[in-house]
Amino acid sequence: MNSIGKQVINALKGEINEIDYQRYIKQLTYDESESKSNLAIFRAPNALIANWVRTKFADKIAHLFEIKTNVKPTVSILLKSSTSPASTQNTTVPQNVERLGGSLLNPSYTFQNFVVGDSNNFAFIAAKNVSEKPGIVYNPLFIYGGVGLGKTHLMQSVGNVMLAQGKTVIYTSVEQFLNDFTRHLSNRTMDRFKDKYRKCDLLLIDDIQFLSNKNQIQEEFFHTFDALRNENKQIIITSDKPPKKIGGLEERLKSRFESGLVADIQPPELETKIEIIKKKCEINRVKLDREVINYVATIIENNTREIEGILSKLNAYSQLMGVDITIEFARNVLKEQMAEKRSNITIDLIMETVAKELNIKPSEIRSKSRNSNIVYARRIAIYLSRSLTPNSMPQLAQYFGMKDHTAVSHTMKKIQELMKNDEDFKVKVEELSNKVSVATPE
Ligand code: ADP
Ligand code: MG
Repeated sequence: MNSIGKQVINALKGEINEIDYQRYIKQLTYDESESKSNLAIFRAPNALIANWVRTKFADKIAHLFEIKTNVKPTVSILLKSSTSPASTQNTTVPQNVERLGGSLLNPSYTFQNFVVGDSNNFAFIAAKNVSEKPGIVYNPLFIYGGVGLGKTHLMQSVGNVMLAQGKTVIYTSVEQFLNDFTRHLSNRTMDRFKDKYRKCDLLLIDDIQFLSNKNQIQEEFFHTFDALRNENKQIIITSDKPPKKIGGLEERLKSRFESGLVADIQPPELETKIEIIKKKCEINRVKLDREVINYVATIIENNTREIEGILSKLNAYSQLMGVDITIEFARNVLKEQMAEKRSNITIDLIMETVAKELNIKPSEIRSKSRNSNIVYARRIAIYLSRSLTPNSMPQLAQYFGMKDHTAVSHTMKKIQELMKNDEDFKVKVEELSNKVSVATPE
């Protein structure tokens, strides 16, 4: 049978162009003996190839591993002669995590690389405090929010801080914890399991919602949790929902999870998205001008994870074709993405759609009328314009004839509050938002 490394290379062959394959990927060999489930090591014949693969294909390779094994490893491209895994995608592998057999942290998941906005401010400050006073301020820190909103990034930021101080950090998923537990149980090495999880300085458990209905591991986790907390060792947990809402979870665990600090992360505002894109450009050394950045920000939905995919797509195409990334170029490359999503949305288009759907005239939306139907429509139009177009608050204030940007911000808050508390209203707004997307020309 082919090694997993070979399978991944074969899969990659189908996804990239023939020249890249012949020149770079074909030259790699998978280092089976040094690799682990969370660390995939390939050997390249020279530094040039190693660098090129690292910057252009490491993410893809990691992704293909994830598809095949359900674990996304850190991909490390080393030279054929070197022996120790000295370099990974971007930086070096922290050796103390390695020795401890925990999962590796992503070295680029740091506080410096985390963009703070209203949507994540609370969770950010909480995590920052925890990194400064682990085990003292909030234990556990429980961070919840939707997919791709930065939960893993934040928890690993704390991990990276403590790792740099030489502390013992374990980052794990429920699945990994469970596998580890089962393995040690059948090998009759539970002492070692306990040693590992109960003697660390920081335990990071990602996506705890997967504990749901897994009784035996809940029991084990409960004891791990108490052992750590009794020693004032820090625990950070993430989840897609707050503790209360996790079904099939023992009450005593829920109350433990709530006993420290529960912090949520909301979908990013447009500004935050823009800043995140800038940050990702900086890290990945991609040059985009402001117009393109704004454009990308409007087409990504709430899942920030899409950003890196889009950047690498833009970058790859522009290198392949030897042209700069202009707005036209970006539009072209991302057409498919756009076909499914929102494109070219203007305030006028929003006004038209909202007016039509709510049976009023666009001019009425912009009027000063206090009629409740019109106020309702106006608020929604402002909200959609803010969420779906790159217009700033002052620009919107001007367009809608409002006093200043604080009036816009007030409306945004109002609508967000309504959406939170009124499911019907939320559905209505989402429906309108979809109608606007469909109405988009192109
Ligand atoms: P989650 O664990 O909540 O699903 P991740 O932490 O995996 O999300 O984040 C997905 C991607 O988006 C990562 O590349 C992460 O670095 C990036 N990201 C999310 N939020 C931010 C932010 N506020 N600043 C910088 N990058 C972010
Ligand atoms: Mg995550």
